[in-house]
Amino acid sequence: MPPSVVERHRRWGVEELLANNPDLRIVPSPDASLKVRGELHFHVRGPGDVIIGDAYQIDLLIPPSFPATAPAVFENGGRIPKTYHKLEDGSLCLAAPTELRLRTGPDTTIGAFVETFVVPYLFGYSYREKHGVSPYGELEHGRDGLRQHFASLFGVPDRMAAQELVRLASLKKRPANKVPCPCGSRRRLGRCHHTIVNELRAKLGRAWFASQYDLPSPIDSRPANRIAERHQPDGVKRRKGKSR
Ligand SMILES: [Zn+2]
Ligand SMILES: [Zn+2]
Repeated sequence: MPPSVVERHRRWGVEELLANNPDLRIVPSPDASLKVRGELHFHVRGPGDVIIGDAYQIDLLIPPSFPATAPAVFENGGRIPKTYHKLEDGSLCLAAPTELRLRTGPDTTIGAFVETFVVPYLFGYSYREKHGVSPYGELEHGRDGLRQHFASLFGVPDRMAAQELVRLASLKKRPANKVPCPCGSRRRLGRCHHTIVNELRAKLGRAWFASQYDLPSPIDSRPANRIAERHQPDGVKRRKGKSR
């Protein structure tokens, strides 16, 4: 391996990932991505203190631009149907793009990504298999899922109001603050939902919100990883030890 790749894998914590998950291994990749395949075991305590131990056959495709770009994750065991949260390319719909950005940073390792997004997703599916319902409440997919995500992110019940807040987050702070707050309070944004809007604008930038304002139609032409929404709240804690 070229030194740059060795260094990248060190930053990504590849060795640690494989050490913590002995049934995962590196396999040849068709492109510049790093491909990791095998059985991912977990034993987690989720919402309502429900504990589930399970294992899934997965492929992780980690692009050279990770962690700025999220890995694509595929379930290969045939357990999770296409109709459950999956993207157009068949990869798992792990989280909304905004959620991925908010919860990853330049130092995020692959192990942390797996713990934060992949394990909670699989826990959610195992829970659903067992109990017939999602542990996180019913989450929508595609455009509606994104609106649902933004509504919870901005803390407004109305999804169209949430979409308007996305637009306001794409504007400069001063003009945005003068606009009537879309939540319906009859106050201007600067006297209403400005704290959360300013915080997210500062964190992610106006260009990001501009890119998120024109929400894609469900399963449409945008790159697949841009139409995922969030599937799990915080609070799924992986426990030490294996599920077998
Ligand atoms: Zn989805
Ligand atoms: Zn408001």
